[in-house]
Amino acid sequence: MKRLGIIGGMSWESTAVYYRYLNQQVKDAKGPLNSAPLLLWNMDFAPIAQLQAEGEWDDLSDLMCEAARSLKAGGAEAIIIATNTMHLMADAVQAAADVPLVHIADATAGAVRGAGVKRPLLLATRFTMEKDFYRDRVEHGAACEVVVPEEPHRTTVHNIIYNELVQGEIKAASRETYLNIIKYYQRERGIDGVIFGCTEVGMLINQSQIDVPCFDTSAIHCEAAIAAILDN
Ligand code: GLU
Repeated sequence: MKRLGIIGGMSWESTAVYYRYLNQQVKDAKGPLNSAPLLLWNMDFAPIAQLQAEGEWDDLSDLMCEAARSLKAGGAEAIIIATNTMHLMADAVQAAADVPLVHIADATAGAVRGAGVKRPLLLATRFTMEKDFYRDRVEHGAACEVVVPEEPHRTTVHNIIYNELVQGEIKAASRETYLNIIKYYQRERGIDGVIFGCTEVGMLINQSQIDVPCFDTSAIHCEAAIAAILDN
């Protein structure tokens, strides 16, 4: 297996989910005592979230590139960014790392295409929903039309991520809110799938509560990362 570098901590709640998925998948693929060869660069999320809110994307890119270079220097042979939002600077991170970057939107597009979904709803941070770096890549890769929630849903989805999920708070009322938003877009916009386009969304809702195919980007990204580092 190749050694995988993770730029994580955004938030650590979802990086913990990644850690479990990655090790479980290596165990399933290789044997009960096998575990994933990982390096983790765990960001302090408070200053990251502050810079995001201020729109300081160049400063954020510098921090991400520093992490990528450090992971490469530490022996990483492939890297992942364990958040959708911070793929905004994926090209710069890829160049800084100088090892393959497994892109979360490419993995997601592959899953959406494989399921034959044509109008998935995107539940994500405001940045991922509004900027085109993510939506365009999924639409192009999956030949689909990504439906982005309108206001007031957009703000609601974003606020639940930052005020609750990244802090590890899982509330039944917020689950209900997300499920009602999904039902609204099924009824009004004919969505035929849901992209959990934030790595914490799978902590709140899951496929068993939703009657169209769901794409949990944490799980999908980990599967793609493990495929990239397995030696077969
Ligand atoms: N983990 C989230 C995501 O997948 C949001 C936190 C962040 O901004 O990185 O986008």
